[in-house]
Amino acid sequence: MRRSVSERVVFTLKKSYLFPTYNKFPITLVKGSKTTLWDDEGKSYLDCMSGLAVCNLGHVPDRVKLRIQEQLEQVWHVSNLFHIKAQEDLAEKLVTISCADLVFFCNSGAEANEAAFKCARRYHQRVHGNERYEIITFEQSFHGRTLATLTATGQEKVKDGYYPLPKGFLYARYNDIQSVRSKITGKTAAIMLELVQGESGVHLSEPEFVQELAKLCKDKGILLIVDEVQTGIGRTGSMFAYEHYGIEPDIITLAKGLASGLPIGAMMGKEKLREAFSEGSHASTFGGSPLSTVAGLATIETLMEHGLIERAKKAGAYAQDKLENELKQFPIIRAIRGLGLLIGIEITEPVTPIIQKLHQNRLLVLSGGTHVIRFMPSLYITNDEIDQAVLILSNVLRELEGITN
Ligand SMILES: *Cc1c(COP(=O)(O)O)cnc(C)c1O
Repeated sequence: MRRSVSERVVFTLKKSYLFPTYNKFPITLVKGSKTTLWDDEGKSYLDCMSGLAVCNLGHVPDRVKLRIQEQLEQVWHVSNLFHIKAQEDLAEKLVTISCADLVFFCNSGAEANEAAFKCARRYHQRVHGNERYEIITFEQSFHGRTLATLTATGQEKVKDGYYPLPKGFLYARYNDIQSVRSKITGKTAAIMLELVQGESGVHLSEPEFVQELAKLCKDKGILLIVDEVQTGIGRTGSMFAYEHYGIEPDIITLAKGLASGLPIGAMMGKEKLREAFSEGSHASTFGGSPLSTVAGLATIETLMEHGLIERAKKAGAYAQDKLENELKQFPIIRAIRGLGLLIGIEITEPVTPIIQKLHQNRLLVLSGGTHVIRFMPSLYITNDEIDQAVLILSNVLRELEGITN
């Protein structure tokens, strides 16, 4: 719908009945197709954030849309007390393409991580009859906003005002195996990490560190949980980021990209964890609904059939090269780093004003931490579109340097 200028002013100044938990951009996006989004004035944007690494297939991908439409005509919700075919099929698909053997479905990344903590504690306490409950996570990590997952998150800002927090979480330094060793006790149940820390600014883990960590976990009977909520489903140029590291986590958590925008989360685990849960020990009303699981299945089929993982790898390498070549001339660029199409551009200044300027120039990106621009386009992005994005970035940076110099 196209609004007149006066209507838009009324719309943006109108009192909002939402809790003020978001500092929203002054844009209302109403339509999307592939890598393009349109606002309520009909203005188009090149989307290089994918609704926060959710729309890996771009907006309104055909096959997913058709499968959701078909399912809408059949049934929407039946409860997990009954067999749901799409849920079984998606679980089978996930097991086929990963090192995991079992899947639990929920609705979000935080819930998938909650399920992982519960599974790890119950595995030790019920299967092994020990008292292990501690979970080691990492500084600068991000694992969600529920009480347990914000406690697991290694950043103070998400904890402010929520004390007391659940017990049993410890924080090690990222890429520092000695730091991890120093946190391990006889009570350590699991270690959870992101292989690329997305939310805090695209920090990559070092292969040697990850391999040592996996070995340490194995030696000490500690479960290794990899949070792939942001990195999973093709984002980094492999289906799961752990594949780059030559390790097999005991537990993998997924959410964002799994169903192209329908709410879903998944905790996947190794066979040995089967006995951790028993009937009634964990549940979710909406988890793995027919709608979200048909969308998930169609998403993975499309990724595989369209060769999108290979595309993400190539496009990611192209984008990183291009960004480095074109942006290194600007003194405010501190670093460019990434894995596949999860790329961070670190800047010497806070990025929020730059991001707003990029949005005004019709390029949608988002921040990671305070000083990093996160570039996470759809895996379908073409080299031409990458060129276009880099051109907008360099124009905005040039303008900015013109002002500051
Ligand atoms: C986004 C994110 C979460 C939280 O997912 P929600 O669906 O918002 O609960 C957890 N872990 C990582 C690594 C994430 O990027």
